[in-house]
Amino acid sequence: MARYRGAVCRLCRREGEKLFLKGERCFTGKCAMERRPFAPGQHGKSRKKMSEYGLQLREKQKTKRIYGVLETQFANYFDLAEQKKGIAGENLLIILESRLDNVVYRAGLGRSRTEARQVVRHNHVLVNGKRVNIPSYRVSAGDVIELKEKSRGIQRFKDIVETTGSRLVPEWLQADLENFSVKVNALPTRDQIDVPVQETLIVELYSK
Ligand code: SF4
Repeated sequence: MARYRGAVCRLCRREGEKLFLKGERCFTGKCAMERRPFAPGQHGKSRKKMSEYGLQLREKQKTKRIYGVLETQFANYFDLAEQKKGIAGENLLIILESRLDNVVYRAGLGRSRTEARQVVRHNHVLVNGKRVNIPSYRVSAGDVIELKEKSRGIQRFKDIVETTGSRLVPEWLQADLENFSVKVNALPTRDQIDVPVQETLIVELYSK
C-alpha cells in the first residue's frame, strides 16, 4: 500500500506547525520545528502572503499528512463524506479518525500514527477477534481492537505502552493498556477530535 516515504519532519516545516508525526521525538528539543521553524528549501525563510486557494490547499495537505493518507484516498474520503448525512467537513474528519491505524495510535498502542500503521500491517492486531492488517480499515461503534496474544509479550509493545501510558485517550475510546486492547464506545463527534484543522477550508477547496 502506498505511503509517503520522504523525510517526515520536512512535512511539519512545510506546514509551519508541529504535526506530531514522530512520536516522542516531537516533544523533545530534537524536533525540527524547534530547531528550524521555517519552510524547507532555498526560499524557506522568505514569508509570502498566501492566497485564499493557497490556504485551502495547505489545510488539505496538512490533514493528509497528519493522518498519513495520500491524495487519491483522501479525495475518496471526501466523496464519501459528502454523501453522508451531516456536514461534509466534519464527516471527513470522523472518517479519518475511524481508520484502524488512527484508533491504534489514539489508544496508545503506537507512539505515532506511522508506528500504529506498522503495528497493523505486521499482523499484530485483531478486530473483534479476527486478524485485520489493513491500516485504512474503518472501525465501528462497539468494535474491540486488541493485540493478538502472541504479540503481547514482545518487548516493543511493553515499551510503547510505557511511553504512551500517560497520554490522554479520547472519550470515544475505552483503552485498557494492561490488556493491550481498546473498545470503540462510539464514533467521535467533531468536538472530540483535537486535530488543528479547519475542515471548512478543505470543503471550499473541493467545491471549486
Ligand atoms: Fe514534526 Fe515531530 Fe518532526 Fe517535530 S519531531 S518536526 S513535530 S514530526
